[in-house]
Amino acid sequence: MSGVIAEIDAVLERLFPLTRSLTGEGNRETLRVLRGIVPLEIKEYPCGSPVYDWVIPDEWRVRDAWIKDAAGNKLVDFQRCNIHLVSYSEPLHRQMTFDELAPRLHRSEELPEAIPYRTSYYCRDWGFCVTQAQYHALERAPGPLEVMVDSEFDAAGSLTVGELLIPGESAEEVLISTYFCHPSLANDNLSGTVMTAFLARELLKRERRHYSYRIVWVPETVGAVAYCARNETAMKRIRRGLVVTCVGGPGPFGYKQSVDAEDPINALIEEVLEERAAGEWVRYPFDIHGSDERQYSSQGFRINVASLTKDKYYEYPYYHTSLDDLAFVRGEHLAASLALHLEVLERLDGEVFYRNLQPHCEVMLSKHGIYPATGGAFLPDQAQELDARLWLLFLCDGNTSLRRVAARTGLPLAALRSSAELLVEKGVMERGTAVGG
Ligand code: ZN
Repeated sequence: MSGVIAEIDAVLERLFPLTRSLTGEGNRETLRVLRGIVPLEIKEYPCGSPVYDWVIPDEWRVRDAWIKDAAGNKLVDFQRCNIHLVSYSEPLHRQMTFDELAPRLHRSEELPEAIPYRTSYYCRDWGFCVTQAQYHALERAPGPLEVMVDSEFDAAGSLTVGELLIPGESAEEVLISTYFCHPSLANDNLSGTVMTAFLARELLKRERRHYSYRIVWVPETVGAVAYCARNETAMKRIRRGLVVTCVGGPGPFGYKQSVDAEDPINALIEEVLEERAAGEWVRYPFDIHGSDERQYSSQGFRINVASLTKDKYYEYPYYHTSLDDLAFVRGEHLAASLALHLEVLERLDGEVFYRNLQPHCEVMLSKHGIYPATGGAFLPDQAQELDARLWLLFLCDGNTSLRRVAARTGLPLAALRSSAELLVEKGVMERGTAVGG
């Protein structure tokens, strides 16, 4: 475990300073570094391409940005912290008074020492994000202030995504998606970007995989939209998966339910959380705000993707500020999240979902030789056996795990398993993997 923690920490340190955004060289460099962990494929989607109701934006390149006082002192410097510049700021070089600049300055009221993170992806604009102290230093500085943003937009550029397809025994795929469009912000979402690579490495090592895995690194929202548009047929076949986000904080584990709360992915996650963090985890019902489940679970796809988090977005005070850094996020937290994700996927991969082949009214047990008594009173174990058979036939619709049947009925899992196998042998049930909800 300590080996992987050190490895994760090294990758976090390497990637944290890179300037990531919806597009750009920082994104490519991030994926190139991750290729040192897993053989992901880097794909480029041309700017200007329509993807459903969206258009892939021009590639944003930024070299430098600063604000100087009249004496030439840099009071705000992109080179020192890349979240000082509003992401997708347009180029600019001009002198202005503080009053002219002030509407372009973003600061945090709640966390005065933090630099907030802001973007302007879809409307051409510019701005700077500063601490309260920097704001007041700019206010007091002898004017005029000199403001410079050395950036450009390239319509001939592209949006970069990473993809790794890991084959299993079944062609049915599980989706694992994470986003990598944030610059120097650690929990949201460098933690997800990095943990997903280590997760993929572990999945590749497994000797047996029932499912195939489609693992993607996309810029949030438009990247996921573009990925869906470019892979529509494959994505429409996927039933479930995980959106990996905010997995590296020191706070509690949580999980955001998939769109259909009854989907087995949710029960599996709850089981693992109960076993590993009993009473210390938080359930977040599906909500229309959030991450790329907004795309994957949209009507055209309805993939049941859940998120297993450690300090979920919106919930921790440093969210979208410079305090979401590598003092807050550490390899040990990511390693703990990694272990939970692997356990959930292992159970999903190995879970058998039985299905009653005669769902209309009750099966006539005696006809199939599965009525356990010849009449009169049952012995206690026979009563349990009958209960198991009846409950299995009543609940097993191809989408309900045996663990769930056990939780609902109080019957032992082992007894349910052997009863289910008997029902398969007698031709009234079939076994398979989870089907769509
Ligand atoms: Zn975010």
